[in-house]
Amino acid sequence: MDLRSFSAIHEHVKNGRISCKEIVDHYLSIIEQKSHLNVFLEVYEGEAKARAEEIDQKIQQGKAGRLAGMVLGLKDVLCYKGHHVQAGSKILDNFQSQFTGTAVQRLLDEDAIIIGRQNCDEFAMGSSTENSAFGPTRNDANPEHVPGGSSGGSAVSVQAGMCTAAIGSDTGGSVRQPAAFCGVVGLKPTYSRVSRYGLIAYASSFDIIGPFTNNMEDSALLLEVMAGADDFDSTVSHQEVPRYTQSLQFNGKVRVAYLKETLESEGLHPEVKSKTLETLQFLQQEGHTVEAVDFPLLRYVLPTYYLLTMAEASSNLSRYDGVKYGYRSFQTANMESMYKKTRTEGFGEEVKRRIMLGTFVLSASYYDAYYTKAQKVRKLLADATRKILKEYDFIVLPTTPTPAFKLGEHSNPLEMYLADLFTVQASIAGVPAISIPNGTDVHGLPIGLQVITDLFQEDKLFGFSQYLLENK
Ligand code: GLN
Repeated sequence: MDLRSFSAIHEHVKNGRISCKEIVDHYLSIIEQKSHLNVFLEVYEGEAKARAEEIDQKIQQGKAGRLAGMVLGLKDVLCYKGHHVQAGSKILDNFQSQFTGTAVQRLLDEDAIIIGRQNCDEFAMGSSTENSAFGPTRNDANPEHVPGGSSGGSAVSVQAGMCTAAIGSDTGGSVRQPAAFCGVVGLKPTYSRVSRYGLIAYASSFDIIGPFTNNMEDSALLLEVMAGADDFDSTVSHQEVPRYTQSLQFNGKVRVAYLKETLESEGLHPEVKSKTLETLQFLQQEGHTVEAVDFPLLRYVLPTYYLLTMAEASSNLSRYDGVKYGYRSFQTANMESMYKKTRTEGFGEEVKRRIMLGTFVLSASYYDAYYTKAQKVRKLLADATRKILKEYDFIVLPTTPTPAFKLGEHSNPLEMYLADLFTVQASIAGVPAISIPNGTDVHGLPIGLQVITDLFQEDKLFGFSQYLLENK
């Protein structure tokens, strides 16, 4: 039995051909077998087994929820009451969630089993999972290579079959980029589609929770369960949640745009380019409209994204001061040095870099020159993206410029930021985007294809992406 997708096992679980207990045991054995990949920061072994038994009973009584048999991993930024959460950072050492986030609660309410907490870049800042205080996660396709980031642990867990699916967060690509590097499906929903209550904040006007899965059905199902209004997050959308699971059929002809600047981009790996072109050719042959669109603003996406997210991060991360929770430095003479030493010792290098740059761009003398200007450019970029999406159903582009790079290959932060060139546009505009597997390079490293569509059109996105996947 293929235990890599819920859609495949769901019927068997319901009919008692396999128990939740057996499924959990299977995943636990893979987790152990592949511990060298450094995916889990904690495995809830006893708890997952006990819950599996409980759900097996519910199944027998015909009372089980929609996700009975689904075993999930959680990126270490999602709060789950009574469990440690520390955003891959030393500064949250020993911190336990005081409550369960809304998205996670909805999954539990439908009887999902949570098997553990997964490694990520510190405070979700990074593109390789090398910025974790717990050491890097490795790509299962080749352990010398990174899995992408920041949700690297979650992507690998699905790639390596350690759980049915995993829940990550995407601020500028953290679900899509690792999904591409690991050959799985990664969805960034529309901003505000899923409540952020219980998601540790990085950049609040970009952050969104999204699933990693081995197929489209599971992605649609997880979004359907997690999305929707929530009293605990005033920014969440109240738009009704469509039945995404009923949206997987696709027919008719669509209009697809590709951005010239992405395919002409200097750092674009030739195999990533040719795989993307193959897909575009396929669509054209099938009678869809495929057109090149100019997007000269592409060169502004990274500066705009990094400037704004650093500003928001500097504000969000000011709460970690060693006073109320987490790590505290005790070798200090007074209160001020306690703050300083706690933050100096507790945060890693990349997080400190971003806090400092973010504080700088928000400082009184530079606010207008940087922050206000970047907000204006964000508006321009969002408007230009939405304009394309008014004329076309989808924008198709590579998820990343290259396949997974080697551990340690990008020691220069600016080089690392370039890995996000194609993912930040959808984050800036708040529109939904998905990464789906698009073959591998000659070395067997996965390549991802990204599909972007307009706000709240996830149903359309699922149908079209499913069609693309089926035709690969
Ligand atoms: N790599 C990007 C960054 O470092 C995106 C991270 C994310 O989406 N959380 O900001």
